[in-house]
Amino acid sequence: MNEMIELKSCSIKELEDLSIELGDKKFRGKQIFSWIYKGIEDIDDMSNISKAFKNQLKQVSYIKNMDILKVLKSKLDGTRKYLLLLNDGNIIESVLMKYKHGNTICVSTQVGCKMGCTFCASTIDGVVRNLTCGEIIGQVLEVQKDIGERISNIVLMGSGEPFDNYEEVMKFLSIINDPSGLNIGMRNITLSTCGIVPKLIDLAEKNLQITLAISLHAPNDELRNRIMPVNKVYNIEKLLDTCKIYTKKTNRRITFEYSLIRGVNDKKEHAIELAKKLKGMLCHVNLIPLNEVEERSLRGSARETAYDFQKILKQNGIDATIRRELGSDIEAACGQLRKSFIEKKEIPNIKPEN
Ligand code: SAH
Repeated sequence: MNEMIELKSCSIKELEDLSIELGDKKFRGKQIFSWIYKGIEDIDDMSNISKAFKNQLKQVSYIKNMDILKVLKSKLDGTRKYLLLLNDGNIIESVLMKYKHGNTICVSTQVGCKMGCTFCASTIDGVVRNLTCGEIIGQVLEVQKDIGERISNIVLMGSGEPFDNYEEVMKFLSIINDPSGLNIGMRNITLSTCGIVPKLIDLAEKNLQITLAISLHAPNDELRNRIMPVNKVYNIEKLLDTCKIYTKKTNRRITFEYSLIRGVNDKKEHAIELAKKLKGMLCHVNLIPLNEVEERSLRGSARETAYDFQKILKQNGIDATIRRELGSDIEAACGQLRKSFIEKKEIPNIKPEN
């Protein structure tokens, strides 16, 4: 038997082709697409489509690709952390953050991660598999339904490395941006990567208006090699040279993520070295004290250290902000919740029906 088609992973064009293949008109494709983004979960709910066609569609495809397993709500700031159960039993997490400018969701792109950053919980057990484009979209739809409000901004900063699942992530961007679907503008989307250079070059060519965030976390190779193994393949010089190509091509300012790890990368000389490396670039540095992860012996820098670090960057002409820590009472660091959940074996033995 052929594999069932996951409708949330389909572009309008693919749905049009599917409709024709099933013997109906091309325009059905667009109808199916808009139903999915109205949030229906059952093909039977597509009320302007004939029962016969819906039956045919059900034979070959499905909409629902995940269920909410658990929601943790922060009492501090309205942040919500979701554990989602995929149809194959894997678990992923997403985070909803409430900002003045709108609801922002942080989505995962893989089950686990293989990049091996020493401070991150997502990568501790490696990568299990890539998410499909429909499973990245599914996170947005599930959370939107749960809060009953529109999500206007997306950050690809959950578990996983977006550039290690490049094709699905690119398809996700194009579908999420579609005016007949969720219509989320490219400027409201941030993609964060640890810096896989060939994919960065490819993305520059695409010239999208998204915000690119690069996880830098260290001002020199010696230190970055220690905390981010990817640096041994694409070192800081290669990475920053490619970032320059990126900004030249897209005219978009890059955000450099810098998690401050106590006694590791948070010293004055690190700030000075970082400022030198970034000088003249169209960029901005986002500082965040490390979210402590139980299994890692690393600790976050004190708030004061973060202010000092920011001050040095600014004095040296580099724009820098200190990111607010949201959801610190609900295990909001990457991959933390999923990991503790799996270890406590709280996973119910259920497999949702399609
Ligand atoms: N793989 C991508 C996106 C996922 S991680 C990337 O590397 O950018 C999103 C951001 O959170 C990255 O900047 C990552 O380095 C950072 N991060 C991971 N664990 C963290 C922790 N414990 N505390 C603070 N930031 C963390």
